[in-house]
Amino acid sequence: MIKKKVSIIVSCYNEEKSLPLFYQEISKVFQNLSKVDLELILVDDGSKDQTLTEMKKLSQKDNRVRYISFSRNFGKEAAMYAGLNAATGDYVGLMDADLQDPPSLLPKMIEILEDKDLDYDCVATRRVDRKGEPPIRSFFARKFYKIINKMSDVELVDGARDYRLMSKAMVNAILQLKEYNRFSKGLFGFVGFNTKWLEYENIERVAGETKWSFWKLFKYAVEGIVAFTTAPLTIAALLGIIFCIIAFVMIIVIITKTIMFGDPTSGWPSMICVIFLVSGVQLFCLGIIGEYLSKTYLETKKRPIYIIKETSKNIEK
Ligand code: UDP
Ligand code: MG
Repeated sequence: MIKKKVSIIVSCYNEEKSLPLFYQEISKVFQNLSKVDLELILVDDGSKDQTLTEMKKLSQKDNRVRYISFSRNFGKEAAMYAGLNAATGDYVGLMDADLQDPPSLLPKMIEILEDKDLDYDCVATRRVDRKGEPPIRSFFARKFYKIINKMSDVELVDGARDYRLMSKAMVNAILQLKEYNRFSKGLFGFVGFNTKWLEYENIERVAGETKWSFWKLFKYAVEGIVAFTTAPLTIAALLGIIFCIIAFVMIIVIITKTIMFGDPTSGWPSMICVIFLVSGVQLFCLGIIGEYLSKTYLETKKRPIYIIKETSKNIEK
């Protein structure tokens, strides 16, 4: 019987401390898994520390390890895409380097995909809690999922991590989505396929620091909304109509009032308020349109999603 190959993709940005620990854990897990072979694809997302050196060390002592190094920081989405492109395994997994995605779940994930009776193409994971996260961040994250699921046809699961194992068929489907603005959580939902969700409690990272500031997360959320729903455009148009109706009614009221009572100068402060409110709404709506326009602009340029500086010799493509 030919052994199946499992490709594990790890995107790394300044993970010199976590990477060796990650490697240790994952090799331990695969030592006990004799049924499958491992291919470890490390993607260096333009790290400014010694991450690439660590990767080279690992790939020298273990030929299952391959690496791709970007010319600069292109973001985790780009790193995952590069990894998926290079993966040759029958099953392909995505993991973080900080051990927040427990490798101990992998045997169970492989088992589920192997079981032909179950017919799953993907095993994904979600956190059931947000322990160790600032409460304000959790609050906005929850709200984000609520809002986007109301607005979009593609379902986004609250607490879903990028940690997942997929069949080759699903990976090929994702690779066909070549958009520049990648919002993977939505792309996974978009391609469909049967997905089994495993749940686990949040684990804090082993070393290093999180790369997500509140502002970065906010921009990521906006990206998700713009990529997967055009509802804000409709909302903007509706707001416009509502304000037109209100203005129309007010005009009639004011004209009637002036004809009946003749009071030309009162209402100055209230008028200023109305002008401020309406121009605020206008600017907000223009901003929404601009957000979509800028994404269209970036897509039409067809720039590469990532640029490779160097790779290990054993990498394909
Ligand atoms: N990461 C990356 N490029 C970036 C930011 C992050 O490849 O620009 C990687 C990072 O090295 C880690 C994973 O993405 O392996 C998740 O990042 P992090 O742990 O900072 O996010 P969190 O777990 O706090 O959501
Ligand atoms: Mg993390």
